[in-house]
Amino acid sequence: MQNRKPLKKILCVWLILLLVAAGVFYFCFGRRQYDTYIMIDPGHGGYDSGAVGADNATYEKDITMKIAYKVGQQIQSLDPEIGILFTRTDDNVSWPADETADLLARITMAQEQNADYFLSIHLNSSTNPEAYGYHSFVRSNDPFSQDVADRIAANLEKNKYSYDRETVFTDQTPLMVVDNLSIPSLLFEVGFISNYDEMSQLKNPFVQDQIAKAIASAYVDTIHDLQENETNE
Ligand SMILES: [Zn+2]
Repeated sequence: MQNRKPLKKILCVWLILLLVAAGVFYFCFGRRQYDTYIMIDPGHGGYDSGAVGADNATYEKDITMKIAYKVGQQIQSLDPEIGILFTRTDDNVSWPADETADLLARITMAQEQNADYFLSIHLNSSTNPEAYGYHSFVRSNDPFSQDVADRIAANLEKNKYSYDRETVFTDQTPLMVVDNLSIPSLLFEVGFISNYDEMSQLKNPFVQDQIAKAIASAYVDTIHDLQENETNE
């Protein structure tokens, strides 16, 4: 029985091969592709239409999806080093038809996918058909998102889009997706769907592009400033 290879040796070779294969797999699929990830959350979706427009036919969930997608595209074109995650990419939602479970699922997604920033996009609605303008909601202990909100407003002012209704701290107006995350989280209400003129603007692909650009460059500029400060320290 001289030809029989020692069992120990064979096992050893197989173990090494297995470790190499695991290493290659981790290198290709396991590591984070980007250093920074933004999770973009198009408000509502699926069973939940969100607010209904002044024309009784436009849904908040459809416009938030369009703008959110454009924001993701713009961020990637401004800085391909920033990874984009979405809570949903179309009208199909992965959570049950229940408002609390719905919001909780979005928060859990951001946590499980290790997002660095969270941006929720919504439209506003009022019984006053004249009400218009955009609003940012942030935590008072989140200077990053406050900075982003200021930059969005400055960019939109340059484009002469609508009107800044100012940044609101969630200490006064609690918001689940902002308050229950520890990462910087901003909920941006882009405009009033209940105002016929503003709704028409929000439905216009050209205006959507301008809004998306304003939001995207606000994020990219704030992230770049932060990275520069970190390298200077
Ligand atoms: Zn909403």
